[in-house]
Amino acid sequence: MAEETSEDKYKKRMQRKKEHIDSHIAAATKEQGIVILLTGNGKGKSTSGFGTVLRCVGHDLKAGVAQFIKGKWDCGERNVLEKLGVPFHVMATGFTWDTQNKELDTQAAQAVWTETKKMLADPELTLVLLDELTYIARYGYVDTNEIVEAIKNRPKMQSVIITGRGCPKALSEIADTISEVKDERHAYNAGIKAQKGIDW
Ligand code: ATP
Ligand code: MG
Repeated sequence: MAEETSEDKYKKRMQRKKEHIDSHIAAATKEQGIVILLTGNGKGKSTSGFGTVLRCVGHDLKAGVAQFIKGKWDCGERNVLEKLGVPFHVMATGFTWDTQNKELDTQAAQAVWTETKKMLADPELTLVLLDELTYIARYGYVDTNEIVEAIKNRPKMQSVIITGRGCPKALSEIADTISEVKDERHAYNAGIKAQKGIDW
């Protein structure tokens, strides 16, 4: 019998891989929107969320964005997405550790939350990005149960992306996909300044 060449072995390995992947594809039959939670201490949560908004809009599907906590920043994604007609709601105040006023923070968060609830009830929106939402729940600016209910009751085909660290358990429990970005190294710790176009 002819000896198996490395090419044969490669082919067999790839065949097995294809069978494995195809069986998983065949098993995933449900069609519904999903909740994605992007969390962890590393860099890449918001950029991943915005990347998915772009992916959605690139297919002529509608998306909306609510950005909690960091509205004071001149956000590069916002400048592009608003031009494309993507609704973009931001908190009027900036970092909570800047304002140091719970009453003001709560009002600002509630105002964006009111707009968010409208997006979560709009079947036209394929995707809603809730950037830095975890902090709003964690600091109690908006009741976590209210957030959970609004997300659970959204239109069936709508997907939601939540970003932020330290997500309350009640909120992470309703996520279908959770990815944790690990902080292995960050330029900031080597004293390198945050940069326009890279960090915001
Ligand atoms: P990005 O918006 O770059 O995807 P992120 O959403 O994962 O970051 P956030 O916690 O929202 O992270 O932080 C926003 C800002 O803080 C960004 O400028 C980012 O570069 C910076 N940052 C993120 N992770 C770290 C870290 N581990 N140490 C220091 N700075 C960080
Ligand atoms: Mg972020």
